Amino acid sequence: MGNGILMSFSRAGLVLFSLLASLTQANTLDIVGDGGRIKLVLAEGFLAADGQPLVHDGQPLGQQRIDVMSAAAKFWADHLIITEPIVINVRFADLLCSSGGAVLGSAGPAQVISDFVGAPHQGAWYPIALANQLAGRDLMPAVADINVRFNSRIDYGCMPGASWYYGVDAMSSPPGTFALYNTAVHEIAHGLGFTTMMDVSTGQVARGLVDHYMLNLSDVRGLSLSQMTAAQRQAAATSEQVFWAGEHARSVSQDITGIDRVRMHAPRELRRGSSLSHFSTSINSQAPAETMGPYFVSGSSLWLSMATLADMGWGLVRRSDYFVMAMSDAMPQVGRWVQVRAAVDVAGLEQAGKDQIHLQVTGGELKMEGVPQEACLKLAANAMRCSVAQLQQMDFDRLQIKVSVRFAAQGPARVVLAATDEQQMLSSSVTLGQDYYVDTRLDVRAALKHQQPETGSVSWWFFCGLVSVLLVFGLRRQGFLPKKH
Ligand SMILES: [Zn+2]
Repeated sequence: MGNGILMSFSRAGLVLFSLLASLTQANTLDIVGDGGRIKLVLAEGFLAADGQPLVHDGQPLGQQRIDVMSAAAKFWADHLIITEPIVINVRFADLLCSSGGAVLGSAGPAQVISDFVGAPHQGAWYPIALANQLAGRDLMPAVADINVRFNSRIDYGCMPGASWYYGVDAMSSPPGTFALYNTAVHEIAHGLGFTTMMDVSTGQVARGLVDHYMLNLSDVRGLSLSQMTAAQRQAAATSEQVFWAGEHARSVSQDITGIDRVRMHAPRELRRGSSLSHFSTSINSQAPAETMGPYFVSGSSLWLSMATLADMGWGLVRRSDYFVMAMSDAMPQVGRWVQVRAAVDVAGLEQAGKDQIHLQVTGGELKMEGVPQEACLKLAANAMRCSVAQLQQMDFDRLQIKVSVRFAAQGPARVVLAATDEQQMLSSSVTLGQDYYVDTRLDVRAALKHQQPETGSVSWWFFCGLVSVLLVFGLRRQGFLPKKH
């Protein structure tokens, strides 16, 4: 009816057209970040029947949820190298909730896949979002990569006095509320691969194959869960003694806490969907709260999760005050050229008194491609330098650098982007790569990849249906739990 009125005006066609466009596309959002693209497919809980954002009790609930989800997707698009766009299905659903506690959300990979060309390990499941990046193509274009659900009942009083908090990029929220942003960042991480595919109650692996996550778990003696029998894994899951073995995370833990030990959630009382697929609430004695713990903790951060994703094979966008840097392949093939892209804040460097920009590859070599030759010089097979003053003269306030790098041998390798001032140059004009002037670095592991699928072994397994991981909130942890009997 309203349309009829609109149609009588000459501009109504435009209005109607844009309305139709938003109707067909309103439920998908394209989020673009420094590392790539994420597509959000919004199912229940965002839009009303007329396609407009949901309004509840006069509150713009749907728009708030859209804004927070977009911000959470942007976070991951800014931090991960995403060469194959990730598709996330997200919905609000009636999940478990009582006055004593609630499931805030759940998520998992929509599919897992093994033995694709580019897989770092044979005979192991990979979540599809990660597998696509490692393969360098969309292995299953017809399906979404990640399913995420949030508990809609929390906005409808299922837990007296508690509610979602819709601060757009809030990791913290007032007492009695749960930051949806924090929760969404957490749940998406599960979908990206922060979860095991094994049945933690029996120790059985899925269809006889270990998974990418389990390859990074070990017991106190250092025995990998992927090498254990089902009975040993079953025992490990409730042993309180399961640790993250991946070297990126252990090194970050060492840097931040001084302790090279990362304890995973393996409580005596098994929690299906939660045990093993989170950090322990006490990662080690010095560890700050981690967002990938089993409970919502206001103000937690992802200080350790990023490194675990790198251990699984995700490429990370690295950033510091003046640089953002990303590589086109997190686990580059030995002997094959891969691209490194970087953005440099030239104006900022100049103001900070830095006059040289260095890029150096350890364990490999580089080719300068998208680099202004007038200001940049190749110093050696593995090093280049650009002059800040010359870049400024050429009117570069921001500079995009593109180089190709190639690693010579299997194992740890590094790309360092750094700025120096004249003082430092005097002492480091020969030896590049000394730590004191390192600003941004990409740590990678050059790999010999699985090149040919074995005949008949390429397979996929529909993982969802059963939700893999739950974020359970323990109300008593924040001390505002109504008395319980
Ligand atoms: Zn979780």
